[in-house]
Order: sequence, then structure tokens, then C-alpha cells
Amino acid sequence: MSVFENPAFDNHEKILYATDEATGLKAILAVHSTARGPAVGGCRMWKYDTSDDAVTDVLRLSQGMSYKNVMADLPIGGGKSVIIRPEGDFDRVALFEAFGRAIEALNGNYISAEDVGVGPDDMVAARRSTRHVVGLPEGTGDPSPTTAKGVYLGVRICVDRGLGKQDLKGVKVAVQGATGHVGHYLVDHLAEAGAELFLSDINEQPLRELAERHGATVVGTDEIYDVDADVFAPCALGAVINEKTIDRLKVKVVAGAANNQLSTPEMGAELQKRGILYAPDYVINAGGIINVMGEIDPKLDARWVEGKLDGLQRTLAEVLDKAEREGRPANVVADDIARQRIEEARAAKQEAA
Ligand code: NAD
Repeated sequence: MSVFENPAFDNHEKILYATDEATGLKAILAVHSTARGPAVGGCRMWKYDTSDDAVTDVLRLSQGMSYKNVMADLPIGGGKSVIIRPEGDFDRVALFEAFGRAIEALNGNYISAEDVGVGPDDMVAARRSTRHVVGLPEGTGDPSPTTAKGVYLGVRICVDRGLGKQDLKGVKVAVQGATGHVGHYLVDHLAEAGAELFLSDINEQPLRELAERHGATVVGTDEIYDVDADVFAPCALGAVINEKTIDRLKVKVVAGAANNQLSTPEMGAELQKRGILYAPDYVINAGGIINVMGEIDPKLDARWVEGKLDGLQRTLAEVLDKAEREGRPANVVADDIARQRIEEARAAKQEAA
């Protein structure tokens, strides 16, 4: 399928296909929008079945970064890159050096960080070929605690709106991916706030330990959808709200860290029909990208990060209020606001040029 006919194509500004025979690099770098600044977003390395799958993924992910970054009111655009994981053994350092050369070819229009399958050491290797990478070990560090804090504050807003409760004492929260980077910080916040916790993860031993520490209930990875809880917090995989799971949910709120929680945008309307309040994922989970900004502009310190996290909560509240007022799904409302803000920035940039 040609990229322009791909349903996920959304007038992306630039798409770079980069190959390097010597290292086995096959990468696609997508700049969705630079209307508000350089496009920032992570690099994912995955074993895609077909190159069409990789294209679709990078188109969707880069658009999602534009939406996330604009909703967090950051002075950056949105982009993302994917590397099709080479078969068998490969020289990881050489591969990421070659990936760095591909980033460099975009002249600073794209700044990469880590995503699934890519770690800080890979960014160190890419850094040898380009300065347009962040998420370095000596940088702003693990973004997960900031993501978790943003999600925790967002859960409180949703509980206020969905359950009419101003605190989390006794509120039942089911956390999927509880021992993950974001999950375990979120669990700590929720436990401290007095929530009753139901936790699932595929990492059984750390899960048992975490549950013991907080007096939480361990739940099976499939069972998590059936828990008689108030809030479901997906912090593991994408597409967990889908045709198979939606009718099993007994919660009043879905609010968690995972990216792309809805299998299709229509799932937002399905949640709304069932009276379930949904916190659009890219709004509630933007804490991590806010944290990374300190590496792009060293003037942006911890105080700035806190201010932006507060702003994020206001934005989430605005989205939920507007959704309620207009009787529309929150994900659709968020998409509309994001698109409008990007369009305004694009028009202003054009006018200034
Ligand atoms: P992670 O890999 O550290 O954590 C994911 C956890 O989910 C792991 O503990 C894993 O064992 C668990 N898991 C996997 N499959 C599962 C299943 N079927 N059922 C239950 N648990 C399962 O990743 P992370 O960095 O914590 O990110 C979690 C999610 O949040 C991802 O979707 C990620 O894209 C998103 N996110 C993360 C950040 C961040 O700052 N790390 C920022 C924004 C969004």
C-alpha cells in the first residue's frame, strides 16, 4: 500500500525511509507536524510482520505525539520513528549509530527519544551521529515517575467527575501493568491516597511483593477486566479497550498511562454509551514528555515541569467538561482541540514566513 493511501496518513510533513545494508538498519522516521517546533517523539524497535505494519504504526504514533505535545502546550511538534528489528544477531551499537545518521538527515526537524524496545544506551549510540536525541542517561532521567504523577492527578479529576468523590479513600482501582515503570509509581501514589487496589501484571513475583507492600489484591491478567472496581487504569499495552473487553468492564472511569488504549476511536463512544468516563490517554500520560523537555531546553527546570503538570490537569478537566456539555466522547473532543491548535500554529507559522 502506498503511504499516501494509508488510512493513517494525516498529511505528515515528512517521512524518511532509511536503510543501511552494513548494519541491517531498516527505519522509518515520520515528522507529523513541526508547526509548534521540532517534532519530538520516541523510536520504537519492533519485529513488524510487514513493512506496511511498520508504516501504519509510525504514521499513527507520530500523529499521536503531535496531539500529546500540543495538549500539554509544549513548544514542540510531533514525530516518531520505528526500526524494523533485524533478524538474528546484530550489532546494536552500529545499528543505532546508523539510525543517528538518519535522524541527522532530517536537520533537526525530528528529535528522538526511547520508546518500546529501545533504551538509553541506544540513544547514546545514536548520539555519536547526531545531537538530535534526548533520553540520554545523563539527561533528565527516567520519565516514568512524572508520567505516573500526571496519571495519578488525572485519576483524581476523573474520580471527582465520575464518582463525585474529592479524594481516593476507599476508591477501588484496578491497575493493569502494575509493576511496570509507570505502574508501580502510580500504585504508590494511589495507595498513599487510600485507594483499594487490584493489581495485575505478567511479572508474578514483583507483583506479589508490590501487592503485599500495599495490602492490595492480586488479579489475573485476564480477570482484571472483570474486577468490580471504580476505576480501570491500563498501564501496560495498547488496544485494551476493545470489542471483547468493553462489556466486561464494571468501572465508572478508565484512566491510565498506556498509549492507544482504545482499539479504535469508536470505542470512546462505546465507553460513553456505557456511562464510563474516559481520560484520553495522550492527555493524561503526557508527564513523561514534559519531563524530557528539560533535555531539549536546559532552562526548563523542575519548577517548570510542575507548572506544566498542573496545566495538564486543567486541560484534562476542560476536555472532560466539554465532552459532558456537548454529550460527545472525550477522545473525540480531545482530538478536535488538538487538531485545531495544530492548525492555528500552522497558519501562524505560514503567516510569519
Ligand atoms: P513497562 O514495560 O515498564 O511496563 C509495562 C508493564 O506491563 C510491565 O510490568 C509488563 O510486565 C506489564 N504487562 C505486559 N503485558 C501485560 C498483560 N497482558 N497484563 C498485565 N500486565 C502486562 O512500560 P512503561 O514505561 O511503564 O509504560 C507503560 C505504558 O505507558 C505503555 O503503554 C507506554 O507506552 C505508556 N507510557 C509510558 C510513559 C513513560 O514515561 N514510561 C509515558 C507515556 C506513556
